[in-house]
Amino acid sequence: MTDSDTVTPDLPLSPAVRIGILTSGGDAQGMNAAVRSVVRSALSAGAEVFAILEGYQGMIDGGDGIREMSWDDVGSILHRGGTVIGTYRSAEMRERAGRLKAVHHLLERGIDRLIVIGGDGSLTGLNLLRTEWPGLLDELVGSGQISQQTAEEHPNLMIAGLVGSIDNDLVGSDMTIGADTALHHIVSAIDDLSSTAASHQRSFVVEVMGRHCGYLALMAAVAGGADYVLVPEMPPAPGWEERMCAELRRGRQAGRRDSIVVVAEGATDREGNPIRSDYVREVLTDRLGEDTRVTILGHVQRGGKPSAYDRWASTLQGYHAVHELLTATPDSPGRVIGTCGNRVRRLDLMTAVHDTQQVPVLIKEGRYDEAMAMRGSSFTEMDAIFTELSEPARTAAELSGGPDSKRIAIMHAGGPAPGMNTAAQALARLGISRGHTMLGIRNGFVGLAKGDIGELTWEDVEGWTGEGGAELGTRREMPGTGELYAISRALEDARVDGLIVVGGYAAYDTVHCMTTERDRYPAFHIPTVCLPASIDNNLPGSEFSIGADTALNVIVDAMDKIKESGIASRRCFVVETMGKTCGYLALMSGIAAGAERIYLNEEGISLDDLAHDVHWLRESFGNGRRIFLAVRNETASQNYTTDFIAKVLEEESHGMYDVRQVVLGHIQQGGSPSPFDRLLATQFSYHALNLLDELLATDRDDACCIGLSESEIQSNNMLLMPSLVDVGTRRPREQWWLHLRKVAHAVSDEVRQPPNPSQSA
Ligand code: ADP
Repeated sequence: MTDSDTVTPDLPLSPAVRIGILTSGGDAQGMNAAVRSVVRSALSAGAEVFAILEGYQGMIDGGDGIREMSWDDVGSILHRGGTVIGTYRSAEMRERAGRLKAVHHLLERGIDRLIVIGGDGSLTGLNLLRTEWPGLLDELVGSGQISQQTAEEHPNLMIAGLVGSIDNDLVGSDMTIGADTALHHIVSAIDDLSSTAASHQRSFVVEVMGRHCGYLALMAAVAGGADYVLVPEMPPAPGWEERMCAELRRGRQAGRRDSIVVVAEGATDREGNPIRSDYVREVLTDRLGEDTRVTILGHVQRGGKPSAYDRWASTLQGYHAVHELLTATPDSPGRVIGTCGNRVRRLDLMTAVHDTQQVPVLIKEGRYDEAMAMRGSSFTEMDAIFTELSEPARTAAELSGGPDSKRIAIMHAGGPAPGMNTAAQALARLGISRGHTMLGIRNGFVGLAKGDIGELTWEDVEGWTGEGGAELGTRREMPGTGELYAISRALEDARVDGLIVVGGYAAYDTVHCMTTERDRYPAFHIPTVCLPASIDNNLPGSEFSIGADTALNVIVDAMDKIKESGIASRRCFVVETMGKTCGYLALMSGIAAGAERIYLNEEGISLDDLAHDVHWLRESFGNGRRIFLAVRNETASQNYTTDFIAKVLEEESHGMYDVRQVVLGHIQQGGSPSPFDRLLATQFSYHALNLLDELLATDRDDACCIGLSESEIQSNNMLLMPSLVDVGTRRPREQWWLHLRKVAHAVSDEVRQPPNPSQSA
């Protein structure tokens, strides 16, 4: 049974409830964010919360292994890798005698609700504890260790699981805690290896984690622009060595200076024999004569600071896990809190664990398609995209100039967004692989009006996947009426059959304008597809736009540093983020960086708000606080500017603390695109080309935009744009992320419910 939540529910006030939380199995980045969220959400609801240290062993040992948590106990942990409450692989937990001790120690503290963050093994243990609970109570009553009354007061164990696993192997959930950060590490390593490999024209075999799950390998191969990938779910058929060599040879012939093969640690052949990275290296060296090196990434994939996604998504999941337990009844089934796109999804715990453990069985039995299907449609689709992207030279030679071959132009418009280059590269290569002539328009609509259009070859876009900025150039200016004529002439002159525009609000506005001007300019009667690319994440028809995740990571990284810089003094920082009239970057970075106060354009700022904030700061610093972080969206208020707010807070501090303002500025638009943005750009490009092919094949000239809703890619007709956006504020009418405001309140001390004032972020 699954159940996706599109809204964040309120936490019921639950003063008599006691919740235990533990982390178990392999550690994963983002576990601390989840622990912090569980502790603070529970405290916000008036419940009591206990950390069980060192995994299940803490409750088997009892004593100091179970510790009541206060608000400040989880301060300053959001940005830390690993798990501050420790994790352990407890052998005793596998024995009934160990579980008996555990139940006894939990009941000593009156705990009958448990949240476990771990992998499928840990969740199996949790479910076992729940099913055995009544029997274990009888045994404890029988031996006189607990009273009959205690047993009657806690007849059942109520449980919720969160999945901490960098492998992203839980069937039914799109992402597990830690997977995004691990992908950051891998993709960054592949970027680094590519540059050295290209210098020497070398090949690299990169081994990544994933015993039964190829998520990290496949996604890293797509995001890192690799040539070949080996994953556990699809053991290659005999003769794969020759096919791999042929792929790599073709890539070299088409202009690649490096070759990268990504191998998941659990990859096998069809006989079940492991495919070792050393073996792949030998094959490449012997058959291709390539200078080939192996890099085994190992435990660095588990380490380091969690990514922005792993912080905000874990915070959201922690909140929902607490909600699950506060609303549970003694007969509630065990749930896992997973994700479906950007939504929380509640899964039946044992079904999810069973399905997850079924995948290796299917692989062993040779039922590869079923194993792939268990990983979900976007995994299967990424596999298809990777195959198409990495085999371009052959298909291009076979198909170009065929009857279905069209002239498709791609361009950017609006502000730069990291991932624009990834999209341009994917569009060019996928288009070429389908036999089209791909044209690049330089410098947005301004360039188009000047006829700045040229053919893009497979080689031209080499290396663009991981580049920030926009190689084709992008311009914010929308064309005036006079330029529309020049644009129509340029499209005619270049004999453009279809147009793809990757960009922000200005791109969408212009394409919408072109569709309404078709009667005057017949050249605009061509199928056109817009791809959302803007760090602001303010585009209609898509819950995510290319570039927003990278910007979020840049902001959160900057905020970590800002907080570290102020730790020696008593200081309030007011940090201004971009986003125009959309508060996405401000709210999400505020949650991910642990900000106390977040000012949004969507809510505005009143004088009463500022007066409240002044009192809050005084009281809080008076109680020993050292750092206060406020985030302000650049247009949160026309008059209460960042400078104004900083001055008000400083003036009213009476020397108790000082205030610094930081306007992050254009670094937010720069940087190498994050893995999420690269994958999003690649997936959007694939769907945009599919849509364009369909429109061209049926002689239609619709103008559409591609987008992501939950985890589905969809398209909307551009004529719907006025109904999807609020023209006055230039942002979508529906903004899914606004419901996370409630989560921010619960964990950030904005409305301080616990009796003790908070002192840390
Ligand atoms: P993961 O949770 O990452 O899959 P493990 O499989 O090692 O990692 O499980 C972590 C811990 O969860 C184990 O050391 C053990 O304490 C507990 N556990 C795992 N499987 C079971 C089980 N079948 N019964 C009871 N406890 C279990």
